[in-house]
Formats: sequence, structure tokens, C-alpha cells
Amino acid sequence: MAGAAFRNALEGQSLVLARGETTALQVNTGFLCNLSCRHCHLEAGPGRAEVMHRDTMDAVIAAARRFPFRVIDLTGGSLEMVPDIAYLVSALAPLTPRLIVRTNLVGLHDLADDGLLALYRKVGAVVTASLPATNAGQTEAQRGNGVWGKCLAMLRRLNEAGYGRAGSGLELDLVANPPGAYLPAGQAETERRFRQELAGKHGITFDRLFTFANVPMGRYRRWLETSGNSEAYLRLLAERFNPATIPGLMCRTQLSVDWEGRLWDCDFNLAAGLPHGARRTHISELTELPPPGTPIRVGDHCFACTAGSGFTCGGAIAPRTGASHIAETTK
Ligand code: SF4
Repeated sequence: MAGAAFRNALEGQSLVLARGETTALQVNTGFLCNLSCRHCHLEAGPGRAEVMHRDTMDAVIAAARRFPFRVIDLTGGSLEMVPDIAYLVSALAPLTPRLIVRTNLVGLHDLADDGLLALYRKVGAVVTASLPATNAGQTEAQRGNGVWGKCLAMLRRLNEAGYGRAGSGLELDLVANPPGAYLPAGQAETERRFRQELAGKHGITFDRLFTFANVPMGRYRRWLETSGNSEAYLRLLAERFNPATIPGLMCRTQLSVDWEGRLWDCDFNLAAGLPHGARRTHISELTELPPPGTPIRVGDHCFACTAGSGFTCGGAIAPRTGASHIAETTK
């Protein structure tokens, strides 16, 4: 995606996308994953070899010592497949008030021993788990056969460990993104529905739910093309461009570092090959955080973050502006 259309959309509203204060570090630990989800913008999967090694982890840990990030957010790929993930989690936890560990639940269920969950509990990491739907059909359409039962089993184990239980201090958040080529429904109503259905049918509780739109890159882009949804979905994203989302975009406050230690404005720019700043920078070279006003690299994939309510790693940004604002195309 070249980015001209998104730049035009910004200019049409006299807007510039530039950094505010950088307070968060997202760490992408690699593209090796136990699942091959249809919506994955990074095309992560079992066939990928990219994974963060200890020398890069040490560079990330050193950066977290230099800069007091308010949030450090570990993602992938599947964290459970990173050989030294416990080392990274243990070292980063004391360096930030909020360490987030992301999981597709199946990886935590199938690949991690009890030690990893015990470590998450011990350091008080926030577990953020992706769960596209509250039923087996939609979940497995996006993530593969047989995953639904494992997701439920892992959510129960997390609850038993105290995660998502009132008063435990252990936060369990869910992330839901649409199984088809349409924008997410309102975050508050989706959270209510998930809460009711997971508690009512399965006795599962959680703290918060975030909704994301699917970003038309990688495997999701290919699915859009092969299913005949591409043109309509791209048009939908552009038509629903919501200028009110711009101040809250995650790229304004977050730096992203990949498995090799290179810096990006966000995980989607990583997928697009648009490095942070004018040149490829390794996190070990970072002597100061980018000052407010630093330009952000953009592409037409940015329409996904700015459509409708918009989204960040922490969910929706702007209130919905009316029912017609979130239109659905075909699945
Ligand atoms: S994809 Fe989203 S987070 Fe990344 S630069 Fe564009 S608007 Fe910002």
C-alpha cells in the first residue's frame, strides 16, 4: 500500500500524524507461532524461523533500563515458542509498571509448562489473550480446527490462577477482531456480550475486552483477495476514516522493536517494511526517545487504525458516531 490515499485523507482534514510523548515499548519477539490465523498481518506461523535471541533481548532490557516506559507489551508470533521468553519477562517486569504478555491461548495451553504461567503471576504481568468470538465456528474459521476447546480450557486455567478474578490484582484482557471482512461492532457492547456468554455458558470471567479491526496486510490481505472481499473492505476502511481517532493512535506514544532489535513506529509498519525514522535503527543505538513532533511513517494500512472507532493495542479510540458508522460487508 503506497500511502497516498491515507496522506490525502489526513491533508483533507488538515491533520499531521506526528509523535506525542513516547511512553510505551512494544516488543515483537518473532514470527514463529503455533497457529496460522487467517487475519495475521505478519504471516506468523509454525513455518517461520524468526525468533528473538538473548543478545537482542539484552539490548531491549538495556533500553528499558535507560527509558522508563510506562508500558512494555510483548507480542509475536507466539511468546510460548520463544526459548528465552522467561528470561525476557523476568528482566523486564521490574523495569515497568505495566508488562503485558500477549497469547493466542492455544500456545499457552499446548506449549508452555506451568512455570510460565507461574512466572506471569509472580511478576504481575497483564495477560492479554486473543479470542475472536464466543463460539467454536467463528473462532475456528479464523484460527484453525480444534482451537476452541483449548481456548476455553486455558481461560479456565487462567481464572483458576486468579487471572480475571475480582480482587486478585491479576489482569486478564481479551482481544476480539472480526472473523470476516467488516469492522468490529462497538467495543462496549462486544465486551458486554462476551462477558455474558463466557460467564453464562462457561463460568469464565475477564477484566476488559478490546476490539481491533483487521489490517489488510499479510495473510489477511491474501484472504481478502481470494474471497473477493478486498475491494469492498479497502473502500469501507477509507470511507469510515474518522479524524477523531488521530490523537489517540498508538504510534503517537509507542515504539515497536522487532526480533532483531530494529525500531518501527508500530507492528503494522513492521509488516509494511517502513522503519521508524529515516533509516533502520537498532534499539541499542537509541540514546533518546523520539521527541514530540517526530513524523510517523504512514501507509494506506493506517486506514485500519482510523476507521470507525479506530483502535490501538488497548482497543477502540473514539466513540462511535452512529450506527451507520460501522457498516458490514460480506463475510
Ligand atoms: S498503522 Fe496505525 S499505528 Fe501504525 S502508523 Fe499507521 S495509524 Fe499509526
